[in-house]
Amino acid sequence: MSETLYRKYRPKNFSEIIGQVHIVRTLSNSIKNNRVGQAYLFTGPRGTGKTSIARILAKTINCENLSDAIPCEKCEACKIITAGKSLDIIEIDAASNTGVDNIRELKETVALSNASLKYKVYIIDEVHMLSTGAFNALLKTLEEPPAHVVFILATTEIHKVPETILSRCQRFDFARLPIGNIIEKLALIAKAEKVKIESKALEMIAISAEGGMRDAESLLGQIISLEDKNITLKEVEEILGTADKKTAEIIAEMIFKKNSSGAISKINELLENGYDLEVFNKSLINYLRQLMIIKIDSNLKKYFSSEMTSERLEKMEELSKGAELSIIISSINLFLEAQSKISSFILPQLPLEIAIIKATQTFPTKKIEYEIETPKIPLPPSGEGARRADEGETSLDKKNISSNKTEKKEDSKLLITNCKLQEDNVNTNIDLSTIKSNWQKLLIDIRPYNHSLSALLSNCQPTKTEKNIITLGTPYSFYCERLNDKTNRLTVEQVFSKILKSEIKINIELDKNLVLKKEAEPIKKSEQNSLLTDALEIMGGKVVEE
Ligand SMILES: [Zn+2]
Repeated sequence: MSETLYRKYRPKNFSEIIGQVHIVRTLSNSIKNNRVGQAYLFTGPRGTGKTSIARILAKTINCENLSDAIPCEKCEACKIITAGKSLDIIEIDAASNTGVDNIRELKETVALSNASLKYKVYIIDEVHMLSTGAFNALLKTLEEPPAHVVFILATTEIHKVPETILSRCQRFDFARLPIGNIIEKLALIAKAEKVKIESKALEMIAISAEGGMRDAESLLGQIISLEDKNITLKEVEEILGTADKKTAEIIAEMIFKKNSSGAISKINELLENGYDLEVFNKSLINYLRQLMIIKIDSNLKKYFSSEMTSERLEKMEELSKGAELSIIISSINLFLEAQSKISSFILPQLPLEIAIIKATQTFPTKKIEYEIETPKIPLPPSGEGARRADEGETSLDKKNISSNKTEKKEDSKLLITNCKLQEDNVNTNIDLSTIKSNWQKLLIDIRPYNHSLSALLSNCQPTKTEKNIITLGTPYSFYCERLNDKTNRLTVEQVFSKILKSEIKINIELDKNLVLKKEAEPIKKSEQNSLLTDALEIMGGKVVEE
């Protein structure tokens, strides 16, 4: 069904193509001006129309009665090409086993005269999959292409195509299709199929397809085959499982309004309806993350605006205005903490219920508050970490100023005050040698909280301590970046604080000269094994028995 829709509504000429406007215009103009190139390279994500346009190009340049770059569909050339029977249109899928043989054949057949068409056209899909040998063979042909032969190469991974090939092609970059374009096409199909479908439902399908027309058409096909002839947003959401996003929005709003009972009811409703709470919690964490990012700078929404409808996005912006950054971050922490516990609890909803209650308390507990943000590490200029205290009643909060209208300048002042207060509050002095000698144990202890963080940390070593700040050095910039990622850093701090029973901050430093010491302390065989597995996972190595 899905593939039929895609085939059935495949565009027949340039005028029927939706999107890729600049490519279509350039190609039709060059044909109108009788300037047909010898080698084209189409690059872009899957489902953006590369092969469709390649086939149309092949037909257009061969039509005998071309009018305004639109094939007539009546001449012998048009008929034979549309029927897929022309010997002069050769499609090669480089990803298939026969790709290499085909290229070898290509070398032999390319010089032969055309069977019937004006241009012999080779369409080589997924060209990046060719072997070096095949690339060389292709290059030879591209260097001196016989007249009346046109090559159209298509790839989703342009970086894997050798420069020598690229330099001989006219390159066209296919963009992901804007949602509007996809909706337009889906609406045409729905109309032709005599299916009534809500515009919001079409938008949802388009968004799920992430800019790929083929995927969108395939989804529409599946939905049409499952549902009646009157499709609503609700039905589409159910099929796509996107109800999660809406529920995440509802629960986030309840948390910010401190409506714990509402949020708990919602969680239990989900459970009753057979939802997987682990999956749902991931949606919720992602939703809160997006909210946090919008709160910091609404321009950053461009990174996830394609994941949601404009209506959802507006709602998110509105919510972010009313929510305090500190509450958003502490909620993220709480739901992250709940994630690993959901599957191991007899009552899977319990960790989420606890997280909701903690998040909706008037005052976050002292521990959470500390996790929120008190960077010793200099803040980026945006002042993203500016933590405002709640209408304070704890002694710590009383000293802070609470205001939503604080200007940026005041924010940084406030932040300094916070750091100072926090520092006063911390009388911990972490000893470097203690950390060093417990390092392997820390790595093991962090595993239940976050498996991959433990693996990341095993590529670091403690280099310095100052009061409650532990500096970790790593010679690898990859690990440095990963660990400096805010969520990762906060998680490490949270777990270290728990394990070391003091409030710990961490600081990750890149030190190219650092030589990682292997286990300073002997550790149990079983523990060693688990660490080893992590290391192997990352490095892709294997164990050599001594
Ligand atoms: Zn024709």
